[in-house]
Amino acid sequence: MRILVVEDDDRVARGLLTALRHAGYEVHRVGTAAAALTAPPADVVLLDLGLPDGDGLDVLRELRHRTGTAIITVTARGEERERVLGLRLGADDYVVKPFGTAELLARIEAVLRRTRAARAAAREHEITLGPLTLDPAGREARINGEPVPLTRKEFDLLALLVGRAGTVVSRDLIVDQVWQAHWEAPSRTLDTHIAALRGKLGDALRIETIRGVGYRVAAHTTDR
Ligand code: CA
Repeated sequence: MRILVVEDDDRVARGLLTALRHAGYEVHRVGTAAAALTAPPADVVLLDLGLPDGDGLDVLRELRHRTGTAIITVTARGEERERVLGLRLGADDYVVKPFGTAELLARIEAVLRRTRAARAAAREHEITLGPLTLDPAGREARINGEPVPLTRKEFDLLALLVGRAGTVVSRDLIVDQVWQAHWEAPSRTLDTHIAALRGKLGDALRIETIRGVGYRVAAHTTDR
């Protein structure tokens, strides 16, 4: 398992690298936002949000588009706003400085477990609905064979709706399944993701709003 450590503080980074390597992880460290975006792919990114050359949240936004990478944000005590924004942008978890090695390792293991469970659940089956194909293993959506760039959360949301095509999927279930509900239910975040999906999928899939309940996609594509 590869871990990318994005941390500008040499002293903090040294301690982290020692602990992570000792735990058996392959670790790559960078100290800037720019380097984080060009670093080799990793299974987990440990992302300090306070970076010298840019906003860590922008890095998070970019990295989030890469499939298969889990992100844990690192913030200083008191930076609650950054932590919350990080989660809204799709971070899988966070740690607050100063944190203990045992806590960090436990969080990394938990995040990796969730990633593996999600992949296993996908069972590598492609789902086709009209012109839309979902490849859960590669976490890729295609319209008439053309890949559609989706964020992880957008893909999870789409897979959930398409997997239950023809039935109404409640907002509560979506929040629970897609966001694991380990933070406060992001009602507006869900609306934002639905709007993004509608924009990206265009005519290929109609996501119907069932007022006060949730969303539904038709089991068969209808006239467009
Ligand atoms: Ca920093």
